[in-house]
Amino acid sequence: MSLRTLSSLGDLAGKRVIVRCDLNVPLKDGVITDDGRVRASLPTLNTLINAGARVVVCSHLGRPEGAPDERYSLAPVAQRLSELLGKPVAFARDTVGESAASAVEGLQDGDVAVIENLRFNPGETSKIDAEREEFAGRLAAFADAMVSDGFGVVHRKQASVYELAEALPSAAGLLIQKELEVLDRLTENPERPYAVVLGGSKVSDKLGVIDHLLPRVNSLLIGGGMLFTFLKAQGYPVGASLLEEDQLDTVRGYIAKAAELGVELVLPTDVLVADRFAADAAFEAVSADAIESTPAGAAGIGLDIGPDTAARFAEIIRASKTVFWNGPMGVFEFPNFANGTRVVAEALTEVDGLSVVGGGDSAAAVRQLGFADDAFGHISTGGGASLEFLEGKKLPGLEVLGWA
Ligand code: ADP
Ligand code: MG
Repeated sequence: MSLRTLSSLGDLAGKRVIVRCDLNVPLKDGVITDDGRVRASLPTLNTLINAGARVVVCSHLGRPEGAPDERYSLAPVAQRLSELLGKPVAFARDTVGESAASAVEGLQDGDVAVIENLRFNPGETSKIDAEREEFAGRLAAFADAMVSDGFGVVHRKQASVYELAEALPSAAGLLIQKELEVLDRLTENPERPYAVVLGGSKVSDKLGVIDHLLPRVNSLLIGGGMLFTFLKAQGYPVGASLLEEDQLDTVRGYIAKAAELGVELVLPTDVLVADRFAADAAFEAVSADAIESTPAGAAGIGLDIGPDTAARFAEIIRASKTVFWNGPMGVFEFPNFANGTRVVAEALTEVDGLSVVGGGDSAAAVRQLGFADDAFGHISTGGGASLEFLEGKKLPGLEVLGWA
C-alpha cells in the first residue's frame, strides 16, 4: 500500500477539510521566535484554498496538561498564518466547543479558520482508545475530509493524528509527502557514496538509527557527546567528558559490525577539551587519545571535535552523494565550541547530491549559525518522527494514511 495523497480526496470545492498541521512553534513572551513550521504548512493550505475548500486548521502547541492554558494559545500562530497567507484567518477560542463550531460554520469557499490548541482537550493525547475516538469524532464533525500534514507528530498515536484520519476520508498533505520522499531516499537505494554524520548528546538516543543505517552507509562519522563513549570503547581515557558506561559494549559491537560490513567508521582524531562546562571555559585542541594528559587532566571535558577532525569530516561529506546529519558536533550553544558544527554544516551545503539535516537541535543549530534553510537539500521538520522513520519503525500516523 502506498501513501494516499491529496488527489485521492477528489474535488474539494465547497467541502470542509480539517488539516492536522504541526504549528508547534517556539514562543517567547507570546512572540513566535521561529515561524519555520508555519511556513512549512503553506503549500498544503494554499493548495486547499485554491481548490475552494473550507479549511479548518488544527495543531498542538507545547505541552498544556489537557486543559486551556493561555501560555499555549495558538492565537499568535493564527495571526502569523494570516500574514503569511495574505488573507484573514478566523480563530476559535476552543477546540470543539461553540467558538470552534461557529468559526467553521462561518467559512466560505477558500476561507481558513484555526481552532485552539488540540492539547487543551485531554482526549488528544489520552492513553485510552475510547477517549481519543470520542475527541476525534467531535473534530470529524467539523469536516468532510481530513488532511494530515504535521510530520512532526506522525510517530504519535494521538486523536488528531490517528483516529481523526480513520474517521474521515483522509490523505497526506504536501509536507508529509515531501518528508517521506526525502527520508525514503536515505533508506532505499541511496545514491553513493552515502555518509551519515551523528552527534548530539547521547549514544543511547541514537541506537536505533545506528542499527538501521549502519548496513546502508559507506561512512559513519561520529561527533558530539557520543564520541567519548566510542573513544572509551577503544580504550582511550576521556577525562570528565560525557560518557555512557552502560553503552560501551553496544558501541564495541558497532565498531566490530562496521569492520565486518566494510563501513568506514570515522572517529575524531582531535577534540577541544575545556577545563569546565561553560561558555568562557579555557580550552585547547588535543589528540583524541590524550584527553587526560592535557593541563586540565582528568577533569577536562571534551566540548567539540577538533579542527583536524572537522576538516576530515568536511572532506568526506563533500565527496558524498547522499549525506544525513543528525546531532550537533559539539556544545554549539557556546560560541567557542560551535566550530565543528559550523564546519560540518558548511560542508553539507556543498554536497553535490542530497544533504539532509534531521533533529530538533541540529535544525536549531544551523539556523543559529546563520545558514539559510534552502542551503541544504532538506531540513526535516520532525525531529523525533524523522529519527523513528530512520530507525525503520512503523509510524501510526503514516500507516493510517496507507503507508506501509
Ligand atoms: P538533535 O535534537 O538534533 O537530535 P540531540 O538532542 O541529540 O540533537 O543533542 C543536542 C545537544 O547535544 C546539544 O544541546 C549539544 O550541546 C549537545 N552536545 C553536543 N556535543 C556535546 C558534548 N561534547 N558534550 C555535551 N553535550 C554535547
Ligand atoms: Mg534534541
